[in-house]
Amino acid sequence: MIKLHDKYFKPFISAKEIDAAMQRMANDIADDIGDEIPVFVGILNGSFMVVSDFVKKYPKPCEVTFIKLASYEGVKSTEDIQRLIGLTQDLTGRTVVILEDIIDTGNTLAEVHRIFKNEEVKSLKIATLFYKPEAYKKDFKLHYIGIEIPNKFIVGYGLDYNGLGRNIPEVYQIKETQFMTNLVLFGPPGAGKGTQA
Ligand code: 5GP
Ligand code: MG
Ligand code: MG
Repeated sequence: MIKLHDKYFKPFISAKEIDAAMQRMANDIADDIGDEIPVFVGILNGSFMVVSDFVKKYPKPCEVTFIKLASYEGVKSTEDIQRLIGLTQDLTGRTVVILEDIIDTGNTLAEVHRIFKNEEVKSLKIATLFYKPEAYKKDFKLHYIGIEIPNKFIVGYGLDYNGLGRNIPEVYQIKETQFMTNLVLFGPPGAGKGTQA
């Protein structure tokens, strides 16, 4: 059990399970893409660890770039997506694969689609390590999904709660009950503000 700001989290998905899901996605994408050299686009901040580990598993040449969007406040997704860093490179004619840490409501993904609407890419595929099917309210196809999870807030492996938890190598799930054992304090008490995707 860990504490981040005012909330408690319990172990949920191990580093080993994450590794296996990432390897599966890397192989599937490499098989589908064939001889194309894809451009993997990570959505900062949350996907930095996914992208870093994913490209090490990707068995063929590829390019990597990032855009930076923000939607979450604390433990809730908002519809108001801020574009903090846009595309900095011409992707005309390229095979693009979006790499997301997690797809929840799909609001962030809708913004990604708006960003790519005017780019004449050859193809646009969506890959996400985690997916919350009960929370998803859009129709965009998700081409590659690592692990489906219930609609509960998670932290670790790049995902934060108000800035904390991104550096934890496995995934923890929010604990709603009051009783706890083996408490480890992780970071200072008191919730921060302004979390980024
Ligand atoms: P969506 O726009 O699909 O609702 O949410 C996308 C973004 O919200 C993700 O990229 C991620 O940054 C954040 N997010 C969604 N669900 C969770 C969660 O369970 N935990 C954390 N830490 N962030 C989440
Ligand atoms: Mg994200
Ligand atoms: Mg966040």
